[in-house]
Amino acid sequence: WTGPVLSLNSGATIPQLGFGVFKVDPAETERIVTDALELGYRHIDTAAIYGNEEGVGRAIARSGVPREDLFITTKLWNSDQGTQSAFDAIDSSLEKLGLESVDLYLIHWPAPERNTYRESWEALQKIQSDGKATSIGVSNFLVDHLEAILADGGVVPAVNQIELHPALQQRGVVDFSRAHGIAIESWGPLGQGKYPLFDEASVVEAAAAHGKTPAQVVLRWHLQNGNIVFPKSNSRERIAENLNLFDFELTEAEVADISALERDGRVGSHPSEVN
Ligand code: NAD
Repeated sequence: WTGPVLSLNSGATIPQLGFGVFKVDPAETERIVTDALELGYRHIDTAAIYGNEEGVGRAIARSGVPREDLFITTKLWNSDQGTQSAFDAIDSSLEKLGLESVDLYLIHWPAPERNTYRESWEALQKIQSDGKATSIGVSNFLVDHLEAILADGGVVPAVNQIELHPALQQRGVVDFSRAHGIAIESWGPLGQGKYPLFDEASVVEAAAAHGKTPAQVVLRWHLQNGNIVFPKSNSRERIAENLNLFDFELTEAEVADISALERDGRVGSHPSEVN
């Protein structure tokens, strides 16, 4: 990986750009992740609930890419929160991925009604100390969820993976996370194609100015804001397009104009409502 990497509070490094496989059909996953690895991606973001860890694992196995050159994330699903259930879940994910350890294991959602995310965070610390995950983190955690696990005094999450794009910048949770050394991963970095980001004048104008596509401009905005991103696409052409971000730079004014698109434009679920 010759692109940018960020240092995590675990001491590990993470490629700032990766490839996400939410809603990638399990039957297509091996082919699509093979495309991504051939094109040069080295960071893959999956989850147990996506049902495609086996396809990711097969693509890794046939790629010939040395394990140490890859960064693989998976996530603990809500119904597996707890202690023994989390231990069983990571073992199941590792078996499907064909790996001895993942680079990053996340609590997928706080699922506050279950009231098991603190116990699950303890379990992830054991998973890390057992060597099954190099780094551990959380996803969709709001400030009060982060405060609760920080108050327990254990390992500080390496990342918080949250919905983030120009129309939903989550500045409160971002500032709190960064103040505690927790890196931000943006899911839905392109607004999942549901939000009309690619038609916004500031995006269209920056794309024209740099000879890039609107998607590349939005992804570049994330990188310049210090976010980790892993856009998803099924098309080899777009997978290549989304990797081609390192030969241009947005000006400060362009970044500011795109940041002005904030409008609480959530396209996914609210963390309070997923249980
Ligand atoms: P995304 O913002 O990456 O959008 C993907 C969609 O954008 C594609 O389906 C396609 O329609 C469009 N697209 C992609 N590249 C394009 C291009 N170059 N030009 C035009 N359109 C393009 O949304 P996502 O897949 O939901 O998010 C990325 C990753 O984040 C996921 O694959 C998954 O790994 C992760 N994620 C995590 C959570 C969580 O709860 N932790 C939730 C959703 C997604």
